[in-house]
Amino acid sequence: MSDEVREECGVLGIFNGERLPRQVAMGLYALQHRGQESAGVAVANGERVRVRKSMGLVSHLIRENNLDELSGFAAIGHVRYSTTGSSTLANAQPILVSCRWGHLAIVHNGNLTNTDEMRYEMEQDGHIFLSTTDSEVLLHEIARTKAASLGEAIRIACAKLTGSFCIIFLTKDTMYVARDGFGFRPMCLGKMNNSWVVASESCAFDLLGASYVRDVKPGELITIDKDGWRTEQFTSKPRKAHCIFEYVYFSRPDSLIFEHSCDKIRRRIGRQLAKECPVSADIVISVPDSSTTAALGYAQESKIPFEIGLLRNHYVGRTFIDPSQDVREQKVRLKFNVIQGVMKGKRVCVVEDSIVRGTTLRYIARMIREAGATEVHIRISSPPVAHPCFFGMDFPTTGELIASTLTPAEIGKMLNVDSLGYLSVEGLTGAAPGGPKDYCAACFDCNYPDYVPSNSTTPPHCG
Ligand code: SF4
Repeated sequence: MSDEVREECGVLGIFNGERLPRQVAMGLYALQHRGQESAGVAVANGERVRVRKSMGLVSHLIRENNLDELSGFAAIGHVRYSTTGSSTLANAQPILVSCRWGHLAIVHNGNLTNTDEMRYEMEQDGHIFLSTTDSEVLLHEIARTKAASLGEAIRIACAKLTGSFCIIFLTKDTMYVARDGFGFRPMCLGKMNNSWVVASESCAFDLLGASYVRDVKPGELITIDKDGWRTEQFTSKPRKAHCIFEYVYFSRPDSLIFEHSCDKIRRRIGRQLAKECPVSADIVISVPDSSTTAALGYAQESKIPFEIGLLRNHYVGRTFIDPSQDVREQKVRLKFNVIQGVMKGKRVCVVEDSIVRGTTLRYIARMIREAGATEVHIRISSPPVAHPCFFGMDFPTTGELIASTLTPAEIGKMLNVDSLGYLSVEGLTGAAPGGPKDYCAACFDCNYPDYVPSNSTTPPHCG
């Protein structure tokens, strides 16, 4: 994705592990693409839970904290991009509180849609909050239930939530793992010798040497303690609603997502795009890195050679921008460069995974033309993004989504390209395992599977 759109978060937990929390921090490296604003770990040693967290990348967490001074047999970790709550250390996770069951730490991936109302009600009752995150509201909800055990309190509180969540809770001796009833975000369970491992994506298992066992089921609560693990269903929903965007863009291609190889599905999506939107071109290139796999699928199906035409600079980060020049163009040129010679005299088909604002892609198309391309054709491996996401993806407001106001033909004109083709909703969800009934595609079709707040600043405008 060439526009500045962020993913949600990544979570990881290890129970009965060695060299904790260092191993959890290692695993977080594999999930870094899911969040770069803050990173943190919490460790349980049978008596208490301790937390270390930092703003920035996992490497900052390791550099700024002596993780070896913490030891324990269970640990959880988090990388964050804020979808709810601002980017501050107070909002970084794990969040650790003390309640009637002792220390309780939480890491959460997703976005809850009914916690504003819950928070308002709690504040009227005198609750005090230390952060602005939805995850802290959930901790309050757990603490105020009349349940006889923490497991029961978590079950009751999670059943009240709407929106998306993959959560790991950690007490001094027990780990609880919960996933929302629609299964919006991915979460899987693995085994590493005598340890249990839970992660947002299975690529973390590969780094740790753990093996994939299965996905955490939608609506499932897994309890892991010294006696082993137990599973129960805390809620059921009318259908699965996995986020189809995980296959389009979020997840790493080397992960198993929703039980299937992301690489395989993303190539299939690219092939479907070639069937729906063929082109007469000499080469296919991708906008690296997220659209490369779909571009390979497009090239295989269309039998047009795939070339590396654009390179991405991975080390840009926060940069000095010269205000006398076009800021957006500078940002694009800092991030991408064309490989001279590849495009000269060629009809170029550029595969991109999605268009959000469209400004970056316009500059990229211009750079390709300046490099000597005779024609520039854009093919998008998803439908037009015209509606906001309430389930963990940080899209801009509806007005900033170019497809909410312009038709594909008008967008093609704005990009100044020879043709523009989008994959259909049916083509996208049909290319994914299980078919359309198992997926959320609300940012394309405005069919929201779960409650979305009507007083939101970016309410959905459907129809
Ligand atoms: S609205 Fe879009 S990004 Fe959000 S969960 Fe649904 S498919 Fe995913």
